[in-house]
Amino acid sequence: MPLVKTLRVLFQSLLFPQPCVLCKCWVVNDSFSPLCITCNKKLEKLKGPCCRFCGVPLPGSILIQWGICSSCRSLPPPYDVARAYGPYEGRLRAVIREFKFHGWPRLSIPLASLLEEAGGNSDLFPADWILAVPLHPRRRRERGFDQTLLLAKALSTRLKIPVFTGLRRVRWTQPQFGLEPAARQRNVDGAFQLCQGEALGSRRLILIDDVLTSGATVSELSRLLRTSAKPERISVLTLARTPALFLNGWRVEASERGAHSVSEVIAK
Ligand SMILES: [Zn+2]
Ligand SMILES: [Zn+2]
Repeated sequence: MPLVKTLRVLFQSLLFPQPCVLCKCWVVNDSFSPLCITCNKKLEKLKGPCCRFCGVPLPGSILIQWGICSSCRSLPPPYDVARAYGPYEGRLRAVIREFKFHGWPRLSIPLASLLEEAGGNSDLFPADWILAVPLHPRRRRERGFDQTLLLAKALSTRLKIPVFTGLRRVRWTQPQFGLEPAARQRNVDGAFQLCQGEALGSRRLILIDDVLTSGATVSELSRLLRTSAKPERISVLTLARTPALFLNGWRVEASERGAHSVSEVIAK
């Protein structure tokens, strides 16, 4: 960092001191976001081979036999590929919750760098448009900001890919987490609307969300995009995904049992 910029950042940090949302130490960085470098480096990553379509980490036996999880074998998803930076656990889960629920919109800046890393590692770029899973206007008013749109804009700044803003959530929906699979699908049926979709025809799209649970929301949006806009490719990119267990080769989502982690599923 040039000396003048370093002094400006230090001066700003002295004027407006802020603690790291995870370790509470004093944070100094040029994006003025409340996540220190040490905690940023410690955010959990997904490792190892995963389902070719939905990106869920696969145990070795299923990987060798199929390369695809049981859910995608039963019903191929309407998107081309989904990838996430890390599991929805530990520090990553904590920082996403701070971002969404505790009013830290500037966390979108370091979190967008995680999206860039995850998308780059999975060859999702280049792309033509970035789209954010839209919030219902009532939810945006309650929260004061739209966290997914902030992520999309921060990623757009990094990658120089424009953000498409013609997706709308036109029906109020319950949070997906903790709902049974059939209820999740009912919850998002017809919940979205596409405006000016002709701009997306034959284009490569990146659909952004913060957390992927069962994928019902991004699947509903992908079906809408496929039928209304006919894009060339739909890639889903999220910060985190809920963990899954494999019982006798079949995939079980942790969230289907109201748990937040694989260890909680085993304990239930
Ligand atoms: Zn920290
Ligand atoms: Zn899969």
